[in-house]
Amino acid sequence: LNNPNLQIFEDRIAAWDRTERAATFSSGMSAISTTILALLKHGDAMLSTAPIYGGTHHLLEHILPRLSIDARFVPAGDHVVEGLEAQAKALGEERIGLIFIETPSNPSLQHTDIHAVSRFARALEARTGKRVVVVVDNTLLGPVFQRPAEFGADLVLYSATKFLGGHSDLVAGVVSGRHDLMAEVLAMRTFLGTMTTPFNGWLLNRSLETVSVRMRRQSKSASALAKLLAEHPAVERVAHPSLLQPGTPQHAVFQQQCTGAGSLIAFEVRGGKDAAFEVLNRFEVFRLAVSLGGTESLAEHPFSMTHADVAPEENEASGVTPGLIRVSVGLEHLSDLRRDMEWALQSVPVGVGKS
Ligand SMILES: *Cc1c(COP(=O)(O)O)cnc(C)c1O
Repeated sequence: LNNPNLQIFEDRIAAWDRTERAATFSSGMSAISTTILALLKHGDAMLSTAPIYGGTHHLLEHILPRLSIDARFVPAGDHVVEGLEAQAKALGEERIGLIFIETPSNPSLQHTDIHAVSRFARALEARTGKRVVVVVDNTLLGPVFQRPAEFGADLVLYSATKFLGGHSDLVAGVVSGRHDLMAEVLAMRTFLGTMTTPFNGWLLNRSLETVSVRMRRQSKSASALAKLLAEHPAVERVAHPSLLQPGTPQHAVFQQQCTGAGSLIAFEVRGGKDAAFEVLNRFEVFRLAVSLGGTESLAEHPFSMTHADVAPEENEASGVTPGLIRVSVGLEHLSDLRRDMEWALQSVPVGVGKS
């Protein structure tokens, strides 16, 4: 059911997250599916922000309905509470048992106010008498830059394959939270058998030693590259939390719940898909691959790779256009990353000035 390597890692993650108990899983997806199956039953419904990780999207959209568990999506970002209210009414408020948030969203990097969603969940519970569990996928900023439990989230969840593992040499997931909820999640983990191996636990403990140093350095390099991109004539728009303008609602949410910007950047190059492909082909330091959070810098094309399964109108609504490139900034020297980015962007013709 468990082993000492995992228990040591779980105690340390609970300390990072300021929660009571954590559980390790064989992947981020098994952490997500085990949690949902533990907490919901036939006839229940759940709400989720969008965009979310493609695997989570598929689980909610195609697999849960087979068990008569309905899921509806609400755009991440500034108007999430209005969206949750409307979708809860549409599904029947008394059926809602779980609200799933991914913040910041990937690849649009929209922040969702965790505290506001938690307040909404408590109000819903008071109206319906049914428990509503708020689950935050904290893969992109946690545990170094974001601690959702401090803002009222009931469960905090990770793909440990990304920053927690950090070396692209393991696949794992984690959930942490209060004892009572974690007892239900741990029981389901036992019967689905979704815990991971002792060796993965050992690798995760190794990785946890450096997660703070890695994420801080990666975030610093990403902020420098985001500035370069924002000033570059070949680039239409850039999303990175370091570029949020004071006075905007997104900046206020970022200030409230995050202590660092993280190392994912999404940017749109002028010239659409062909220009984006040209840039991706020219990278020499950034490698063309999905995944994120490792020591090596990666670049990918969400429209044809990570988000190819999502309906075109949903992609358009969340800014996943054919010209969009997502990068995960690693630990290489900043001067190498800068030179690689400038070199790749030279392929974009910029005759007519920035639109
Ligand atoms: C990668 C990822 C997952 C899935 O994790 P796996 O370990 O690949 O199963 C879930 N959520 C987010 C935000 C991710 O980036």
